[in-house]
Amino acid sequence: MSKKLSLPQQIIIALIAGIVVGLICAAAGLGDFTAQWLKPFGDIFVNLLKFIIVPVVLLSMIQGIVSMNDMKKVGAVGWKTVAFFLCTTAIACIIGLIFANIFRGAGLFPDLSAELGSAEYEAREYAGLMSTIVAFFPTNMWDAFLNANMLQVIVISLLFGGSIIAAGEKAKLVKDFVDSAYSVIEKLMGFVISLSPIGVFTYMAWVVATQGANIIGSLALVILCAYCGYVVHAVLVYSMAAKSFAGISPIEFFKKASPAMVFAFTSTSSAATLPISEECARDLGADKDIASFVLPLGATINMDGTAIYQCVATVFLATCSGMNLTIGQMVVIVVTATLASIGTAGAPGAGMIMLAMVLEALGIPVAYIGLIVAVDRLFDMGRTCLNVTGDIACSACVTKWQSAK
Ligand code: ASP
Repeated sequence: MSKKLSLPQQIIIALIAGIVVGLICAAAGLGDFTAQWLKPFGDIFVNLLKFIIVPVVLLSMIQGIVSMNDMKKVGAVGWKTVAFFLCTTAIACIIGLIFANIFRGAGLFPDLSAELGSAEYEAREYAGLMSTIVAFFPTNMWDAFLNANMLQVIVISLLFGGSIIAAGEKAKLVKDFVDSAYSVIEKLMGFVISLSPIGVFTYMAWVVATQGANIIGSLALVILCAYCGYVVHAVLVYSMAAKSFAGISPIEFFKKASPAMVFAFTSTSSAATLPISEECARDLGADKDIASFVLPLGATINMDGTAIYQCVATVFLATCSGMNLTIGQMVVIVVTATLASIGTAGAPGAGMIMLAMVLEALGIPVAYIGLIVAVDRLFDMGRTCLNVTGDIACSACVTKWQSAK
């Protein structure tokens, strides 16, 4: 009778309870109450996750690379991972564009052209391609840790991992230290993850209570369009990849990935979901070393949900501004949305900031983002869920590819 519920079960119950409490609070006009008294518990949980991300990524990546014990193998895992990421993201853009055009063609997008003048949004300045690449490489290791600059932390892990392998026997002490420190961080990670139902419940109650009205608002169909893309991409691309490349049935895949998917949905941060994604990937049979390489990289550069959202949002804003997109412009959207999603950080709202890059490429005023900013969290929940699912699928597939050799 006293059988303990598994973590996925607890998370699903927390999600449902959060929706119910959120609906009750929305009906009772208690949106502010949820923001003041429930959301902070979710924030505490996310803070704890953020606090362990840097050591988790650093130690698990170094340990993974060292266990592969061969930089050639690391290279092989690396290119397969990046190839998977690029292909799935390009497909995501195409799916996003197909749905956006279906909705636009059927006249389902709301006409907000009258509000374009009042749209306000200030875009961030872009440093340019080469400066962005230069910024991957840290000048100071501690700065990278302090700012949780994940790309730099990945580069540091690669450099240290490779150097430990190169140093051979002499690096034994460092290698043992990494192993031992990772065992400690793994325990800590287990503890923080066990608190995830609290994070899911409080965030969900808060979002439903405060954003409920927005869902019914004029942008409901644009949000629906993005969600059609998210669902189709997950069902088609990830199910097929899991089945044909990793030999995992779609039902098993989604069942085992569900804790990370639900948590990503509520937290809207791929980076914060990383420790939970690692557990799910291992549950799906992904090799520990490969997962600890693929997942942090994926949480930083692989954003299929973000790519779909950027395509849908771009077509919607183009339609509002009376622009008819040509096939050539659609190709520009696919290319820029793929790049923009790679540049998107695994943090809440980051995809909307990078949307500016796609709009600029098409000559659409960036200020138009102001039209959709209020409901960004609703787009973000779905896109983060998809982003994380893609990373987990990739680690299962790359594990299979590596073991098939
Ligand atoms: N929130 C997303 C993530 O963490 C990024 C985005 O805003 O698109 O994956």
